Amino acid sequence: MSIFSNKPKVAPVASPVQVTVEKTDEQWREELSPDEYRVLRQSGTERPYTGEYVDTHTKGVYQCRACGAELFTSREKFDSHCGWPSFWAPLADGTVRYIHDRALGMERIEVRCAACDSHLGHVFEGEGYGTPTDQRYCINSVSLKLVPADEATPPGTED
Ligand SMILES: [Zn+2]
Repeated sequence: MSIFSNKPKVAPVASPVQVTVEKTDEQWREELSPDEYRVLRQSGTERPYTGEYVDTHTKGVYQCRACGAELFTSREKFDSHCGWPSFWAPLADGTVRYIHDRALGMERIEVRCAACDSHLGHVFEGEGYGTPTDQRYCINSVSLKLVPADEATPPGTED
C-alpha cells in the first residue's frame, strides 16, 4: 500500500451552508451521552412521548444540544400531539439545513443543525395544523437544549 495514493483533485460539490463546528466522531462520542450521540450523530429518533420537551410551554430559545447554536424559539412551538416537540418554523433562515431522506421507503426531509451538521428531526408540510406555515418541524428533545427566557430578560418585558 502506498502512502502516495491518488486523491481526487476535485472536491464534491459543497453544501451552501458552512459547517462551522467540526469534530471527530470520537470527540462527539466523548461529549455526548449515548442517547444524544445516537440521535444527533447517527440520525436516530427518540421514542414518541418520551422526550423532555414534548409538552413544554416555557418561553425561551432552543439551542442545538451538540453545539449550542440557537435553532428554534418557544414562539414557533405548537402542540401537534405527535409525540415530539413541534415547531412551525426555525428561529431564522439558515439556522438549519435540509437533506432529502428516502429511508424507510418514504420521502422525508431531514432537518440538521447548520452549524455542526447534527441530526435534529424531520420537517413535514401540508398536514393542516393551522399554523402560519402549515409546516411541522418534528424535532427530537434530545437534540435540543431549552434556555428559558427569564434567565436572559427580566420578567414583564416579553412581547
Ligand atoms: Zn449544532
